[in-house]
Amino acid sequence: VKRMGRNGFHFFTEALQEIVMNKIVLEQQLRSGALQSQLLQYYQPVINAKNFNVCGAEMLVRWNHPLRGILPPSEFLGDIEELGFLSAIDVVNLDLACKQLAEWRSSGLVNDSFVLAVNASEQLIKEDNFQGIIKSDLDKANLLGCNLSIEVTEGVLVSDFDKTSTILNLIKGYGVKVAIDDFGTGYSSMAYLKWLPASILKVDRSFVQNVPDSVADCRVLKAIIVMAKGLDFEVIVEGVETIEQARLCCEYGADMFQGYLFSKPLPPEEFAFFIEQHKPA
Ligand code: C2E
Ligand code: CA
Ligand code: CA
Ligand code: CA
Repeated sequence: VKRMGRNGFHFFTEALQEIVMNKIVLEQQLRSGALQSQLLQYYQPVINAKNFNVCGAEMLVRWNHPLRGILPPSEFLGDIEELGFLSAIDVVNLDLACKQLAEWRSSGLVNDSFVLAVNASEQLIKEDNFQGIIKSDLDKANLLGCNLSIEVTEGVLVSDFDKTSTILNLIKGYGVKVAIDDFGTGYSSMAYLKWLPASILKVDRSFVQNVPDSVADCRVLKAIIVMAKGLDFEVIVEGVETIEQARLCCEYGADMFQGYLFSKPLPPEEFAFFIEQHKPA
């Protein structure tokens, strides 16, 4: 700061002031509920690797900012989490996603085996009565537990393994699927993989990115998929962007894909259109 001289320092404090101001405004908007009303639920198709049919979707939140347009989670979820509002936001989004799925089911757009995945923050999982929230969302929307999948990262699990796995086992009792998100980027050792209270592993995008160009990356991807399948997990590969990547994932034994090759996350109307276009004959 010193080396930048007076002007540099001035610039620095102004930038800092702006950040603080933004946070204060954000907090006010969170408290008043104004922010929640600007959030949108987008849906990214999940594709069955055997027949390339759409077998589910992941709900991914967006912020329809009045001045800046549609923002991805990386622009705002961190601040919301820091301000302690992430679980409140997740609770509402989860409820809205269940309602959306119920609507798609009753209109016949998707069938009974369709699985909706929702990201659960650490704050959400540790809400008092998380299992009660899940149960009432399912009941209200008339869904079966197996229509819903809850995605948690390894980090969330590791931070309080006993407590988190107890909670996750409770929701598994309703038939809800549990998925380990961003698999391979966290801390879990191979040894305790088999103890994870999950039935789905989502292989992180970073393992696919350089496939097939990097031979080493191909081997690592294959090893992860083979190991996960050997431990009876269902495997979803994230971030599949090319046909060659999809082909290799298939060959290695992946069960499902999610990625721009098929579709980016879509607003509900476009998602419905995508499904219509890709309905099996
Ligand atoms: P995630 O759960 O790992 O979600 C997958 C991310 O990868 C999404 O980013 C998706 O748009 C992106 N993606 C999918 N396919 C491709 C691809 O082929 N190439 C590339 N480059 N990217 C791809 P997005 O929507 O920006 O979300 C980022 C993260 O924000 C999510 O990562 C998730 O951790 C978090 N998130 C999103 N919605 C929610 C929410 O409602 N609640 C909570 N707690 N977290 C959320
Ligand atoms: Ca996810
Ligand atoms: Ca992920
Ligand atoms: Ca992620």
